[in-house]
Amino acid sequence: MNCSSNTYREVFARITEELSKAGVPDASSDARILLEEDSGLDYSHLLMQMNEQLPEETAEKLRVHVTQRKKRIPLQQIIGYTEFMGLKFYVNEHVLCPRQDTEVLVEEALKKIKPGMKVLDLCTGSGCIAVSLAKLGSTDVTATDISEDALAVARRNAQENGVDVHFFKGDLYDALPEQTRYDMIVSNPPYICTSVIDTLEPEVRDHEPHIALDGTADGLAFYRRIISDSGNYLKECGHLLFEIGYDQGTAVSELLRNNAYEDIQVIKDYSRNDRVVAARFTSQ
Ligand code: GLN
Repeated sequence: MNCSSNTYREVFARITEELSKAGVPDASSDARILLEEDSGLDYSHLLMQMNEQLPEETAEKLRVHVTQRKKRIPLQQIIGYTEFMGLKFYVNEHVLCPRQDTEVLVEEALKKIKPGMKVLDLCTGSGCIAVSLAKLGSTDVTATDISEDALAVARRNAQENGVDVHFFKGDLYDALPEQTRYDMIVSNPPYICTSVIDTLEPEVRDHEPHIALDGTADGLAFYRRIISDSGNYLKECGHLLFEIGYDQGTAVSELLRNNAYEDIQVIKDYSRNDRVVAARFTSQ
């Protein structure tokens, strides 16, 4: 890309075209975000500058970022952060980019939460669920992940958002240093069927960690494991909330029903797909 002695308007048009030719969905929106990010201007200032020359320093940064985006590296990884629940989260290639769908899980959890409740987040990844619940629900959050690289991201996100979350590395409950009971367990585990991963968008398939996506052949392995051991970690009437794939509501509800759970609810996301299952634990 040749950005020298060009106006913002010309560069914007050219980046949009380049991204669109590379098959990037929402090319003009991505071009605008990269231009804002690399020039340090917000949208209204950018609009006022459209006929000005783009400084060489900005052009230099844009060249690198546009090349990355053409390789379908997720925009959030390129700029290094994303917004979730109105909070800022650092992201890199070791975690799934926080998705808007997951805000439905946090909102449902916040409806049930009272300050001081003990919450356990399994498969925390970027920490977006754990940090949002600690920050917006004033809860005492413990979070685990099997990936040390993911935990490094999650720790940074807790620190940058000014909350204390107890992080432990390990496989689901095995990560916990002691057997405590929680008021609530939340999880957005890997839930994509292995055979489907190859069909996902290149941003996800080639640049997000498969360990965070792959839910084995039927996509349900983590739900089975989390549910079957949950009786040792939830208080009587404690809440369990999962993010699920759009077609997993019935299967996950069935697993819960067979494991002493009541009040099972399937909740839809903003695209009206099933996205969250919530239930309460009874020891009877
Ligand atoms: N919702 C994510 C996706 O569509 C998958 C998240 C997960 O497996 N937990 O890629």
